[in-house]
Amino acid sequence: MRIENNIILAMDLTDPAEALRVTGQVIDYIDTVKIGYPLVLAAGIECIQEFKEELQCQVIADFKVADIPETNEKICNITFKHGADAIIVHGFTGPDSIKACMDAANKIGGEIFLLTDMSHPGSGKFIGKVSEEIAKIGVQLGVENYVAPATKIESLKSIRRIVGDDAFIISPGVGFQGGEAIETLKFADAIIVGRTIYLSRNPRKTIKDLIDIL
Ligand code: C5P
Repeated sequence: MRIENNIILAMDLTDPAEALRVTGQVIDYIDTVKIGYPLVLAAGIECIQEFKEELQCQVIADFKVADIPETNEKICNITFKHGADAIIVHGFTGPDSIKACMDAANKIGGEIFLLTDMSHPGSGKFIGKVSEEIAKIGVQLGVENYVAPATKIESLKSIRRIVGDDAFIISPGVGFQGGEAIETLKFADAIIVGRTIYLSRNPRKTIKDLIDIL
């Protein structure tokens, strides 16, 4: 996936009109928006298509899919049918569950991002302990895209080592959660930034300033 300026906006505002308005303020600088449960549960899954049509952007659906293979397949099918370009999928559920998502994506021409580790402090308790194994399963399955945290550079580094330079890594946790953009982009292909942009008094200036330092 090609991502303009290596920045993905995580749009987690829950007022649909406000979410579109704020994204519209920065869309000259980016072409990819990550939409997850906060907005989709508030606005309905149709908001994916709305973003794509109104803002001409790519949409990554952050549904952190984590179920049995049969259910994962259904979740992916519905998400891609509603226009998502890619979907984020948990890896801790194991290879069969991941594979079901890959198959659904391949059928429709979409992409999956495999979530290897998370960015919040509590992630060290469980998922952080198996993140390398999750990445290895991804490599065995032929997964090309990964999510790894900007807040844990050592984890991000080791995941890059495992998945290789040809894999595509996107990294959340820059800004509000403490991750640093320039350091993160040494190991990731794109950063995911949410609150730092959408809660800013001037989102357009904030994203421009960020791009200027990268
Ligand atoms: O507002 P902030 O920049 O912290 O947003 C980060 C986004 O990335 C949120 O949508 C969050 O759910 C998501 N995310 C994350 N850590 C992960 C996977 C996704 O922070 N490991």
